[in-house]
Amino acid sequence: MARRLLLVHAHPDDESISTGATMAHYAALGDQVTLVTCTLGEEGEIYVPELAKLAAADADQLGGYRIAELRAACAALGVGDVRFLGGAGRYRDSGMMGLATNDNPRSFWSADVDEAAAYLVEVMRETRPQVMITYDENGFYGHPDHIQAHRVAMRAAELARAEGVGPEKIYWMALPCSVLEAGLHAFADTVGNPFEGVESADDFPFGTPDDEIAARIDATDLHDAKVAALKAHATQIPDSSWLYALAGDFGSEFMGVEYYTLAAGERGPGDGPNGWETDLFAGIAVAEPAPAEAGSR
Ligand SMILES: [Zn+2]
Repeated sequence: MARRLLLVHAHPDDESISTGATMAHYAALGDQVTLVTCTLGEEGEIYVPELAKLAAADADQLGGYRIAELRAACAALGVGDVRFLGGAGRYRDSGMMGLATNDNPRSFWSADVDEAAAYLVEVMRETRPQVMITYDENGFYGHPDHIQAHRVAMRAAELARAEGVGPEKIYWMALPCSVLEAGLHAFADTVGNPFEGVESADDFPFGTPDDEIAARIDATDLHDAKVAALKAHATQIPDSSWLYALAGDFGSEFMGVEYYTLAAGERGPGDGPNGWETDLFAGIAVAEPAPAEAGSR
């Protein structure tokens, strides 16, 4: 395929929650979308009572179960190329920052960055993505596996670019401060307000000034696909989740629009609000398969 997107995520469900609309958008356009997930999410909480004993402290079978949830979620997004870094089970979920699970020798947090990056470089050699999406230095909100995913993805991109197979543009997922503020106001009077007690957007560990945002991907037409993907992660996201309530109350924009900062590469022309790019491939010369088009760029 001419346009190739690679996403690097920490746990099953991160892809759907933070980039599901973008994945569905590019898959629907017929572009190549490759997801690399770094752990199986073994340390997640379980919201399905009859599956509760799969937990790490009991049968420790959650990770394997979540492989199937991830595949179902990606199928809902139209994405079939789903991989685990180094193969499924290579790296274990590290749990929240400061927990003893961080120190498990199999934890992703304990992984050697260069060794882990080498697995990702292999994927890049094969798929040759022009665009990569991952997290910022703080892993968006500070989870050790998200921070490590950032480090590994950035290191792999550096190595792959030196070989000429790395991404031309790297995006980090982000939430503009204006959207966060608007959300705070909009949700203030709702039942089950997830931001209850939060007084201002400054209280969040995330939120990016609008002028640092580079791209806004509008996939409101595919918001049902994102909801279906979230539902596929049933052990992690209960049916009663505020996510679904808000999706119902605030409609397709809440689910269907995602934002990014540009961490590497040149910003392309933007025709969105604030001059934001509306296409992550903007400015990238993509070889068109149609011969009639050859040389027109
Ligand atoms: Zn995660």
